Amino acid sequence: MECQVYINGEYFPKEQAKISVFNHGFLYGDGIFEGIAAYGGRVFKLEEHLQRLWESAKAIDLEIPLSREELKGRLLETLRKNKLKDAYIRLVVARGEGDLGLDPRKCPHPDVIIIADKINIYPEEFYKKGLEVVIVSTRRNIPSALNARIKSLNYLNNILAKLEANLQGVPEGIMLNKDGYVAECTADNIFMVKDGHLITPPPWIGILKGITQDTIMDLAREEGIPVEEKIFTPVALYSSEECLLTGTAAEVMPVTKIDGRVIGDGMPGPITKKLMIKFRELTGREGTPIY
Ligand code: PMP
Repeated sequence: MECQVYINGEYFPKEQAKISVFNHGFLYGDGIFEGIAAYGGRVFKLEEHLQRLWESAKAIDLEIPLSREELKGRLLETLRKNKLKDAYIRLVVARGEGDLGLDPRKCPHPDVIIIADKINIYPEEFYKKGLEVVIVSTRRNIPSALNARIKSLNYLNNILAKLEANLQGVPEGIMLNKDGYVAECTADNIFMVKDGHLITPPPWIGILKGITQDTIMDLAREEGIPVEEKIFTPVALYSSEECLLTGTAAEVMPVTKIDGRVIGDGMPGPITKKLMIKFRELTGREGTPIY
């Protein structure tokens, strides 16, 4: 069945799902989005994603033209229209059509777009063997210029980092903040294990506050693993016992090599494996029902 895309209250087949070239989402990356996953007929952490969408909207003074309940209804309807149980959902609110100037006041009608497609999980091999990644030279945006907590359509900072990683022949890059502390990856948060503690950078360092990151911290605490949100350097990361990435699309991904340094024994470690299992168990039983 062909993918049906929701745009402002109507459904369009993929080829006809189009927006204006005068849309400031396209011209300037002026807009916000969420990437959401559904497993076995349930949408995972839907309320958390909607909460973050509303916080991003507030930060850029964008009025979402639907209530939270309405948007939730539309999202679930889009999944039903596409007969999906396991899916990746892209929810976009763009500033809307305006003129060629920057001024958002010229865009009176923000657009709501919902794309639901088959979930695109990384090759199973990555999860078994772990990823090789590099630390890229592109620094994460400084929060006082563009705060990464706003999940905006402007992802060029991340794309520049991804390009660097790609050019070095690896699928993902670790970004540092302006002071040289480990921040996050191009579309995932990062954790390391040190002396049996699970450590992740705090949001104020200039990263997106990840919903999967929060979930993993909760799951680790349940297991009695000490969890810390604190800053750390690349040198600390090189000598970590384990390293893992988290995100809606990647879920929990082990990292086994960073800048040529082997992490731990070069295979996914015991805490990472435990968290991968606990995460899959959770996604299999929790979430907002679609049907
Ligand atoms: N960091 C960035 C920059 C992201 O774009 C994402 C989402 N793809 C994440 C982290 C992970 O966030 P979440 O777990 O909420 O998907």
